[in-house]
Amino acid sequence: MNYTKLYIQKVKNIALVAHDNKKQDLTDWATFNKPILQGHHIFATGTTGRLLEEVLEVSVTKFQSGPLGGDQQIGSHITEGKIDFLIFFWDPLEPQPHDPDVKALLRIALVWNIPTACNRATADFLISSSLMDKNYTRLVQDFTDYRKRKV
Ligand code: PGA
Repeated sequence: MNYTKLYIQKVKNIALVAHDNKKQDLTDWATFNKPILQGHHIFATGTTGRLLEEVLEVSVTKFQSGPLGGDQQIGSHITEGKIDFLIFFWDPLEPQPHDPDVKALLRIALVWNIPTACNRATADFLISSSLMDKNYTRLVQDFTDYRKRKV
């Protein structure tokens, strides 16, 4: 398989999302990691973003609330190369009205090889990685053949 190189800069574009039952977990995690997160660009779905602005004391780029399209906006930003890191505390125990959007965001993060954490343990490992304060070469499948395929 051929790969294209994309780059995650030292200062990263981090999107954070938490479903309602996970918002406390995410704000606790963000508070603990405040000095690190303050050194990056922070994006979030609407309600998560409002809470994060309070605890992080930085300005957060806020999309729509998740059920109103915010997850799709984050996915679109990933596709355009404007978000390169995802912390998504989704709730495995409660049905969500926007479940297709949740799946779509997780899928698109995988397509574009975005570091993604869906629980606190993974988020802890990601944020304590030595790669957090370095540039990183992100290998993404080369879609040239796919785009030129005969249909
Ligand atoms: P919210 O959206 O941050 O606006 O609550 C999160 C989600 O449900 O995806």
